[in-house]
Amino acid sequence: MAILMPKPDEAILARREAVVEALRAIVPGEGTVSAPAAMRVFETDGLTAYRQLPLAVVLPETVAEVAAVLRYCHQENIPVVPRGSGTSLSGGALPLADGVLLVMSKFSRILEIDFDNRCAVVQPGVTNLGITRAVEHQRFYYAPDPSSQIACSIGGNVAENSGGVHCLKYGLTANNVLGVEFVTMAGEVIRLGGKHLDAEGYDLLGLLTGSEGLLGVVTEVTVRILQSPETARAVLIGFPTSEAAGACVAAIIAKGIIPAGMEMMDRPAILAAEDFVHAGYPRDVEALLIVELDGPQAEVDFLLSEVEAIALAHGATECRISRSEEERALFWAGRKAAFPAVGRISADYLCMDGTIPRKELPRVLSGMKALSEKHRLGVANVFHAGDGNLHPLILYDAARDDEFERAEAFGADILRLCVEVGGVLTGEHGVGIEKRDLMTEVFSEDDLRHQQRVKCAFDEKHLLNPGKVFPVLHRCAELGRLQVHKGALPFPELPRF
Ligand SMILES: Cc1cc2nc3c(=O)[nH]c(=O)nc-3n(C[C@H](O)[C@H](O)[C@H](O)COP(=O)(O)OP(=O)(O)OC[C@H]3O[C@@H](n4cnc5c(N)ncnc54)[C@H](O)[C@@H]3O)c2cc1C
Repeated sequence: MAILMPKPDEAILARREAVVEALRAIVPGEGTVSAPAAMRVFETDGLTAYRQLPLAVVLPETVAEVAAVLRYCHQENIPVVPRGSGTSLSGGALPLADGVLLVMSKFSRILEIDFDNRCAVVQPGVTNLGITRAVEHQRFYYAPDPSSQIACSIGGNVAENSGGVHCLKYGLTANNVLGVEFVTMAGEVIRLGGKHLDAEGYDLLGLLTGSEGLLGVVTEVTVRILQSPETARAVLIGFPTSEAAGACVAAIIAKGIIPAGMEMMDRPAILAAEDFVHAGYPRDVEALLIVELDGPQAEVDFLLSEVEAIALAHGATECRISRSEEERALFWAGRKAAFPAVGRISADYLCMDGTIPRKELPRVLSGMKALSEKHRLGVANVFHAGDGNLHPLILYDAARDDEFERAEAFGADILRLCVEVGGVLTGEHGVGIEKRDLMTEVFSEDDLRHQQRVKCAFDEKHLLNPGKVFPVLHRCAELGRLQVHKGALPFPELPRF
């Protein structure tokens, strides 16, 4: 295991029984889980290579319970890891041996649907798709659509600033959340934003969105809902090379067309998805684009013809426009099932998530081929092409000698390549533990120190989700440079890892 977590505090482990008893007094009955066998289902998230049983699992049902649990843990110096549905691909919800796992799945109610103000107020455990399901009878929907939308929670989406196919045109979670209620580690309940479009003061809502459970526990979310477009159609476009597909993506955007979604898959991903879902994807192409246009019928028809012309000019060998809603859904079904489809062709895979400037796509793709040879591992590629957000899936078998270590090294090299061409380490899956140790590739010591000052303003004891996002555990007390005097470390009582 290459990624190290903070060493558990033996003093907390030693008083586990008393801690569980105190938690049970706050969240009684089945709301507090402490038997190892019962906690097993919570030991990992979507980054399944890493597992850890927590000290205890707590499933509160009210904001008062959340606040009381956090207040108790704050007072007792016990770490807390918030968890939604546990689909994080970067290990953000990985438990800590000496920490409480605070699972928000019982917060599963839609509190209010306000069609006049085009928003909905929901609890954080509501699934992403659950919001659309609750408003679709009035032809409304919630736009950000991670492929995991059937399972992932809106609280997790806020914490990860999640994206999806439709974020190219409609924005990420950050652009679709109007307000949140959250609880700080000290147990204070705070509200940010609301149904109104703007708020005075610092943009703390922006700060909380994407904070990966490090600043507070989200207990309520107000989201923007949109009216469903009059029509939506998708087109499948096959290319003989990934480079040609990449150039076509750039040309579509350069023409001023912003599709509702523009996704790309390479040959291994196309074949895996087609074998799994039978979406009608061509098998004889090296790259496939799915481009969706939505809006009034006349506009969609016109834009489809424009996209088709651009595609043919870039050497497309296949161009198939969906003729019905069922066919459009089928085109997307293959893409949305691409991850599990790849799971059928490889014993294990690591899903990476980097973002690059769109025009660097050909360079990064050929760089990735070279890295695949260097690390002797295959890779299947699925991209949110319009956003330049890459999801290389590194294929490996954990049961074979050093394949997991090579897969991690391959993944780190891909992310370094993204940074080298002017991109960033993450598009939508967060930093978690997966990219934590690569943060220094992007940020200077000063950058990181300032980010951690923000963390300290919310959680001065560094108890919320420690070991995630930041590469070195600077506690708030040691934010200055670490000066070792005559071999003596300052603040020797603080854990370092
Ligand atoms: C098959 C598959 C496909 C995926 N596709 C996409 C995709 O297309 N786009 C995308 O963006 N992501 C995708 N993901 C990643 C994942 O689904 C998202 O990151 C999602 O937002 C996580 O939500 P969750 O409820 O599962 O959160 P969890 O995994 O439980 O937690 C994720 C992080 O959020 C924090 N957190 C959770 N709930 C709260 C809360 N109430 N308050 C404070 N912090 C909280 C946790 O501490 C953790 O750091 C995919 C995952 C899988 C397995």
